[in-house]
Amino acid sequence: MHERYSYLCLYPFLPAASEYVKESGLTLDHLISSVSARIRARERVIEAIRTGCVERPVIGDEQHAQMELLSYPFARILVSCIRDPYLVRRYALAEAKGAYRRIIEELHSGRIDTIHKLADDLGLSIHTSAGYVLVPFTDYLRLTVNLRDKRWKLVNRSLVRGKVKLNMNEFVRVVQEAIYERVVKGLPLDVPEEICNSLSAHIEEIKHELALRRAKTDEFRAPSGGDPESFPPCIRNIIRNLKDGVNIPHSARFAVTAFLLNAGLSVEDVIELYRSLPDFNESMTRYQVEHIAGVRSGTRYTAPSCATMRTYGNCVDKDELCEKVSHPLSYYRLKLKAKKA
Ligand code: SF4
Repeated sequence: MHERYSYLCLYPFLPAASEYVKESGLTLDHLISSVSARIRARERVIEAIRTGCVERPVIGDEQHAQMELLSYPFARILVSCIRDPYLVRRYALAEAKGAYRRIIEELHSGRIDTIHKLADDLGLSIHTSAGYVLVPFTDYLRLTVNLRDKRWKLVNRSLVRGKVKLNMNEFVRVVQEAIYERVVKGLPLDVPEEICNSLSAHIEEIKHELALRRAKTDEFRAPSGGDPESFPPCIRNIIRNLKDGVNIPHSARFAVTAFLLNAGLSVEDVIELYRSLPDFNESMTRYQVEHIAGVRSGTRYTAPSCATMRTYGNCVDKDELCEKVSHPLSYYRLKLKAKKA
């Protein structure tokens, strides 16, 4: 099989892969009528929901490789028809994590050329020297915005001729962020309703998987108290993302931490919630949670209001009760009261 072809199958989100699909004259109709690509696309999305990682496919022959390549745009269509922000993030993260594992495998087998090709295809103008990678400053800042560990802070990095110096493993981690950015871009796509309708069997299956996943991650039990079933939808969504290892913005971290502490959870329980994050750092997390709890300053922070949650894009999945409150903690208290009544 042509080497470029098998490379694109492993990294189907690259611009070069979409160009290949275009050059092959494959249209949306071809895509929709390819039963095997459709099945593999459904598998991609279900694997993302179940395990959080789309693993390396086993490629047999050229036909198989083509199907694998087509399954990626098809998976994007399936995700887009469902239009669920949580699914979009989980799917993009699972594709990025799978790619990360493949790149590490390639590096372990001495295929350093893969990293150059990938950087090139992702538009990263890097230089390598003596096992180090030099990344343009602006790309570095953009791609590490969600990486919380202090080793990623610019003050802790060496700069060489305006580029940031990383070891190879660190660079692959940054590439994972670049891939996430690439996969999530444009999702959900604007897919015509008749196409979504023609895929309803796959869509129902994915929705079912998603509901199972939600039920599992909503099982948040804190020994120190709180009633997670009564938490408002915004807080449940942040908890779900944290448990899935999705890096969330600072505003969401602050909101969930302040909410949980005010709902009666202990500092230890809140720290546990952050443990699934890929860049979890216990001492830094403890410092931040204790600061919000007022252990260090003597002033406990309250959770942000609904208006602030909306401003930062953290108000999601609103339900009927949300119409009656202006603060997530009021939602929680009302729900607890209704339960006891
Ligand atoms: S309206 Fe308030 S309580 Fe409801 S989801 Fe939005 S922020 Fe949360």
